[in-house]
Amino acid sequence: MDFRLTPEQEALKSAFEEFFKEEEKRAPEGWSGGMFSIFESEENWAYHRSVAEKLAKKGWLCLPWPKKYGGQEHSYIEQLIFNEVRAYYRVPGVDMWGSQIVAPSILECASEELKQEWLPRIARAEINWCQGWSEPNAGSDLASLTTRAVEDGDDFVINGQKIWTTGAHRADHIFFLARTDPTVPKHKGITYFVSEIREGITIRPLLFMHSKHEYNEVFFDDFRISKKNVVGQVNQGWYVTMAGINFERSMIGSVAEVKRDLEEFIEFCKETKRNGQPLAKDPLTRHKLAEFALELEVARQWAYYVAWLQSKGNLVPAESSAAKYFSSELTVRFANTMVEIMGLYGTLKAGSKWAKFHGKYEDMCQASLGTTIAGGTTETMKNIIAWMGLKLPR
Ligand SMILES: Cc1cc2nc3c(=O)[nH]c(=O)nc-3n(C[C@H](O)[C@H](O)[C@H](O)COP(=O)(O)OP(=O)(O)OC[C@H]3O[C@@H](n4cnc5c(N)ncnc54)[C@H](O)[C@@H]3O)c2cc1C
Repeated sequence: MDFRLTPEQEALKSAFEEFFKEEEKRAPEGWSGGMFSIFESEENWAYHRSVAEKLAKKGWLCLPWPKKYGGQEHSYIEQLIFNEVRAYYRVPGVDMWGSQIVAPSILECASEELKQEWLPRIARAEINWCQGWSEPNAGSDLASLTTRAVEDGDDFVINGQKIWTTGAHRADHIFFLARTDPTVPKHKGITYFVSEIREGITIRPLLFMHSKHEYNEVFFDDFRISKKNVVGQVNQGWYVTMAGINFERSMIGSVAEVKRDLEEFIEFCKETKRNGQPLAKDPLTRHKLAEFALELEVARQWAYYVAWLQSKGNLVPAESSAAKYFSSELTVRFANTMVEIMGLYGTLKAGSKWAKFHGKYEDMCQASLGTTIAGGTTETMKNIIAWMGLKLPR
């Protein structure tokens, strides 16, 4: 693997840096980045939407897509560079669920009619998506889902409940899985739907443990949806979800954000005195910071390796699971250590005049735990590494 960027990639990176550096300046008061914070307040959502519109105009929401759907046919590495730079500057603007989950599934499996209907609207940032997969009794074992879709003429009628649906309260569209055939083995009776959110769908807030509104419960009550809104074939939804994993999966975003956090924290340690000495001179603090610098570099190199493997046409379930596992657990350890180093100051919430970094790490200690669960838990990632990476029995 060649770790150097090509001159074209360097130029692209500079263009991204120039853009995101400027956009960061427009962040609302107290903004500290993170994938889920766009959903937490009107100001954060407005910031996200305004950047999304600019990114759409530049064609940067669909960098790897085929040109005929508005994309630029960039490689995984170029998508990674975009994700890295955007996350480093903590700028929102990308509907992860739209660009990175449903769009690849549509590209891979949907009819031409659906592609023409949905892809340009995603590229133009006209619509906001949420993901209705998990249910109260179907998370890691997603194929156990029980939301039912029953055929009725040209429609399906949907009944059931989804849970932990991130951003459903801001979204206007949902992609979801429902059981169309309960008589066959569980993976074979599931269908993948895309829909606007309208009558028949009820959204109720679920507050995360830090009291913020990021995810929701979603109820389908006799919700009618046209058969045209099926992605792929009826009963093939499981395979459509698998096709959707065909996007940049290196987790570079969370690595880049924490890298920036570390850089800022190092400056804080140089400026902050404890017992008359700068924190930066405290041997324990120095060692902790050195450990994170090292682990972040490992995570970053691994992310580039995953993207490089993908760019060679490899499916990378074990490698991307390792990236997800390592970077999400690293983020949790990082947040906890920052609070530990700051002592009681670290436990103060945003709003306290004594809080450092606007209470970021008190919040991050709680929020980061969710990243070890969302999109597949740490244990699920380890199972995939063991099974597909190490070839251990299932
Ligand atoms: C912040 C956040 C955002 C989310 N956003 C969305 C969203 O937008 N849309 C959506 O559909 N879902 C979303 N989810 C749900 C997420 O996908 C599920 O929480 C996740 O898949 C785990 O499922 P579960 O909560 O049912 O836990 P369970 O699957 O019940 O797991 C409970 C515990 O058992 C362990 N476990 C389960 N099976 C095994 C096994 N085979 N081997 C070893 N250990 C196992 C798990 O690792 C976990 O520790 C979100 C979750 C979080 C935390």
